[in-house]
Amino acid sequence: MEQAIRNLIKSNGTPFYLFDEKGFIDNYRKLEGIFKAIYPNYQLSYSYKTNYTPFVCQLVRSLGGYAEVVSDMEYTLAKKLGYDNKQIVYNGPSKGEEMFDHLEHQGILNIDSLDEAKRIISYVKGHPDRNYTVGIRINMHVGGDFISRFGLVPESKELQETVSLIKETVNLNLIGLHCHISRSRGVEAWTKRTEIMLKAADDYIDGVPAYISLGSGMYADMPEFLKQQFGGDTVPTYEDYADCTIQPFADHYKDVENQPILFTEPGTTVVARYLSFVTKVLSVKEVRGRYIANMDGDYHNLGEICTMKKLPVTVLSGGKEQHTYTNMDIMGFTCLEQDVLYPGFEQSIAEGDILVFDNVGGYSIVSKPQFIKPQSAMYVLRTNGEVEQIMRAETFDDVFNKFSFKF
Ligand SMILES: *Cc1c(COP(=O)(O)O)cnc(C)c1O
Repeated sequence: MEQAIRNLIKSNGTPFYLFDEKGFIDNYRKLEGIFKAIYPNYQLSYSYKTNYTPFVCQLVRSLGGYAEVVSDMEYTLAKKLGYDNKQIVYNGPSKGEEMFDHLEHQGILNIDSLDEAKRIISYVKGHPDRNYTVGIRINMHVGGDFISRFGLVPESKELQETVSLIKETVNLNLIGLHCHISRSRGVEAWTKRTEIMLKAADDYIDGVPAYISLGSGMYADMPEFLKQQFGGDTVPTYEDYADCTIQPFADHYKDVENQPILFTEPGTTVVARYLSFVTKVLSVKEVRGRYIANMDGDYHNLGEICTMKKLPVTVLSGGKEQHTYTNMDIMGFTCLEQDVLYPGFEQSIAEGDILVFDNVGGYSIVSKPQFIKPQSAMYVLRTNGEVEQIMRAETFDDVFNKFSFKF
């Protein structure tokens, strides 16, 4: 990676993103291999909203992954990449009109609310000559200190009514269940999540379900520096998750003939580590005892994680004499006081140096606003050592073409 970065800096300048294809593939295969060894019907479904770079989505497809989408925009991308509807999972609380196209093509769709179920039922009743299938999202509460807004609560009246309405509809079949919860990544929470879903499947699905999706929220393989901030050795491994999640599932369905597909829907877990952001120090200055390094990238480039944890950073010297500062903050190009890429920077640094931020693959490029400056380019280091551009830098026109200039 480092040689590729140095070459790109020389040929294209900064800032830019670099995606590590080999790292991504190795991690994907490792996760999948561990889960499939216990339950061969395990299927990974990649969360588009985490990072919908088409190159990454197509790489997932080539590895056999499904597409997990939560809007018509993401659905359209999956179709454009060549996905069959049977390998697209459409989730989320605000699906668009494409959900009917998806249903028509036997796609996987998980209902979030009673109102959404009613809308679907009204649609399928208008097409009595055809058969349709759906799943339901189960609301999870597994120890977090907030009430999740998603899905329907087990044993609630609303869930019961939703199930009854679907079962009364002759050409609509309830074939699967889904859940997902963020901020509950420990083994205990995953053990509970699995128990709740297996019970819900027994309670609400007639016969053996076609699939159960357990959502996302497993810790990834991550750099040691980051792992320490998440609790070091207490961070579960993929094997730990397999023990508390995949194994009970395999046990539950060991005697059935057509075993359900077991999905998980990783985004962060598979992509976060394999994108880096490369940005240059434009100036170093002191303001009332606080040292500031001003960069040509901003905190949106790194995603929300940089507001919660310190990202792994490598300094590439630009040749000027470096100093170590106490009370040094690495600041972005926006004119926002909160634009901190890294607070309390400890390494030696000088104007003209390059900082390489690792582990920025999740919720970075997808949440980067066109704020003050357009987005930077993205490259990939291919498995064969070649470097290719997979997203060009945005231009002035990308930002302003949508506005009217007729006054
Ligand atoms: C966001 C989301 C995911 C992916 O979550 P990560 O934390 O990025 O891995 C998976 N499933 C659903 C339904 C989601 O909304």
